Amino acid sequence: MEKSVVSIVKAPNTPDAKEMDQMIRKAIDLIGGMKKFVSPGDTVVIKGNFFAPYPPPVIVDRRTVAALVRQLYEAGAGQVTLCEAVSVGTKLGRGQSTAYVLDEMGVRDEAEKAGARVVCLEDEERIQVSIPDGKCIGQVAYPKLMYDCDVLIDLPCMKTHGMTLVTLGMKNFQGILNDEEKYYAHRDDFEQKIVDLFKIRKPDLTLIDGITAMEGNGAGEGGLPHPMNLYIASADVVAADSVAIACMGIEDVFSVAFNRIADYDAVGNGKLENIDVVGSQIDEVKEEFLLPDAYRYPDDRMVTGTYQNIDFRIGGACKQCWNMAGGMGRMLSKIPQERFTVLVGSDPKLPNGITTPLENVIVLGDCACAATGCIKELRNKMLLEEKGVMAPGCPPYRPATAIVERYLAQRGLLNKEAGKAGAQKKTQQFFDYYKKIDPTWKPKSEQKKTETEEDAT
Ligand code: SF4
Repeated sequence: MEKSVVSIVKAPNTPDAKEMDQMIRKAIDLIGGMKKFVSPGDTVVIKGNFFAPYPPPVIVDRRTVAALVRQLYEAGAGQVTLCEAVSVGTKLGRGQSTAYVLDEMGVRDEAEKAGARVVCLEDEERIQVSIPDGKCIGQVAYPKLMYDCDVLIDLPCMKTHGMTLVTLGMKNFQGILNDEEKYYAHRDDFEQKIVDLFKIRKPDLTLIDGITAMEGNGAGEGGLPHPMNLYIASADVVAADSVAIACMGIEDVFSVAFNRIADYDAVGNGKLENIDVVGSQIDEVKEEFLLPDAYRYPDDRMVTGTYQNIDFRIGGACKQCWNMAGGMGRMLSKIPQERFTVLVGSDPKLPNGITTPLENVIVLGDCACAATGCIKELRNKMLLEEKGVMAPGCPPYRPATAIVERYLAQRGLLNKEAGKAGAQKKTQQFFDYYKKIDPTWKPKSEQKKTETEEDAT
């Protein structure tokens, strides 16, 4: 495979909208200019990252979208479409739609002002596409507009991610899956699945928005803003991601499975020695990012032996179930007056039975809920006495957590409203942070409130 070219353009300080426009122009000029990617009349589709209703760095900066759309039209594009679908956590967990996120964050307004059509992928037609060389998936319901367009652009943020270490151009395509595929995608074979998607169609251009990056327990409200003031661009999504990973201070770029597998499967160049970096160099811009807990501590650190009121019985569980058990531990630790048993994995042991009341038994994940071996007897008891809770799922993602939350709330052990208030406080940091770097921005609901108050005076 020929060497890939990746550009890095960094601003000395927080750029404004005009400077962001210039930076994007320079980043694309350095890899051949927009006309190399777009011919007159082309239909262009941009897959952005707007998975939850929080401002950057949770989502791509709307000013990045506007500048990119304008530059595509300048290069002769016939029609530019911005598309996205929110995460399952946003849709099923919080009940918020893609349309809501795009409206509330002001992304739709900016994109439409620049001339783009904005579409929510859940409303779009899908076609069944085969992946003959797919190792994890052989067929997928692919959004037709992304399959048919002349130019496909990948527009991710630059973030750390609790499950996959980082989320950049490759992980951004998780958003094109339908809900069911998306929901059950976060398993051990997740990265291979995403790499397989790129065998259908690779983006022609990837532009990573690293103006405000994210570190820590990303990719959502658990992370922290880390300003980088840069853009990374390339025709090779794998190479763009590898350069971004190195800029985030992660020396071994192959510790990110997407890049290791994509390089192996020849989807792109993941090895830095096969990439020419133009513009700023990695060593000039790289900064140490705080990694997610899951990558700083062993899997069991936040689970076994950590919470005084929880007996975890885990056997034969994968990383995803360990992560979910950690989340369960954090939730149950807020109910210190009760003692719980949490069963996880394909073969947890219960040689002497359980030491907590039956109503405080939580069976987490499909493997444990399948109730083989010693769990079978316990499961039968739980069903007969209608005590305890089974929370299936593989992995037992957000809906499983919701089942347990509901069960605890019904028993008066969990105050969901208090939990929501805590979460709101955490997410407020993103609103406060982003308002500082762009004082012209307000979420749509706040704008409407101000207008109503002004009308009333
Ligand atoms: S339910 Fe079983 S297979 Fe699925 S993530 Fe958990 S341990 Fe792994």
